[in-house]
Amino acid sequence: MSLTTNLKALSEANGVSGDEGAVRKIILNAIRDHVDEVRVDTLGNVLAIKRARGKATRRVRVMLDAHMDEIGLMIVGANDDGTLQFRAVGGIDDRSLPGKVVLIGPDRIPGVIGTPPIHLAHGDDEVKKIEALAIDIGAAGKDAALGVVTIGQMATFNTRYRSLGTTVSGKAFDDRAGCAVLIELLRGPRLPVDLLAAFTVQEEVGGRGAHVAAYAFDPDAAIVIDATPANDLPPSIEQDVSPNTRLGHGPAVYVMTRSTVSDPRLVKHVIGIADRRGIPYQIRQPGGGGTDAGSIAPTRGGVPTVSISVPARYIHTPVSLINLNDVRHTIELVRESAARLTSTILRPA
Ligand SMILES: [Zn+2]
Repeated sequence: MSLTTNLKALSEANGVSGDEGAVRKIILNAIRDHVDEVRVDTLGNVLAIKRARGKATRRVRVMLDAHMDEIGLMIVGANDDGTLQFRAVGGIDDRSLPGKVVLIGPDRIPGVIGTPPIHLAHGDDEVKKIEALAIDIGAAGKDAALGVVTIGQMATFNTRYRSLGTTVSGKAFDDRAGCAVLIELLRGPRLPVDLLAAFTVQEEVGGRGAHVAAYAFDPDAAIVIDATPANDLPPSIEQDVSPNTRLGHGPAVYVMTRSTVSDPRLVKHVIGIADRRGIPYQIRQPGGGGTDAGSIAPTRGGVPTVSISVPARYIHTPVSLINLNDVRHTIELVRESAARLTSTILRPA
């Protein structure tokens, strides 16, 4: 299975927070024959171990993390007219919802988030809040709707993966891009360090899976692989601040997020590796958003943690865009950074 085959399958799988089973299945199939141990924990995290090559007495144990879940919608009720009420799971802008096709539940029942046609629209119509929107599955009434869809079921956007050349489009690259990177790392050669891989659940609702995974692994250090907003958004306009990250300029190394300050020793180490190996990278500046690092770093006595992300345009909307070279450079940067981690680097300054 190639990187793009995995990326397509992962992107098209539905796995809203707490309902990651379809994604988990793809990952287990992809890594099973390439790791020494793999298990699914109580919350649904996939925890795999790929031991170091050679016989070292005290190997550095590096946790690598990518989250399996994606933002989406949950069905919370039905209206008398047969349409379904829903709420967001994770951060979604209400403005991106009207007119989108969604797939509901394990049977992937198609529905559309209704919006009036332009013929019936008024110039001064306000953007509707999510509470005022409804999913139309074509049911004649409330009972008919609840005969095919159950309250509590999740819905995702019906977005196919497409190649646009070096750039690809699809849904849920946050964080299926990270999952694809982590799969490649596990399928690759053994490194001089133990790799403790966590494909986590429930990141988008508060980094819950990662918290448990980090406690179970008790690692020496952690690298979180995620997707981060690229704000080089077309159409290009003159901006008085440079974009935070942009497509095609390499993985983004986080210095700080809403929930964490990356371990300065690890940031220095990762950037040093990138410079020496000629791997392009960009510094992800402070701003909104967080990663599983916020859950891993404060575990037990504290875990030195850094986040490295694939820049992605339009994340947390029905479709996002990433550059495959950024994905490949992320694999290379994480592999080299993990391989060269030593207890000396991690010694308190
Ligand atoms: Zn993410």
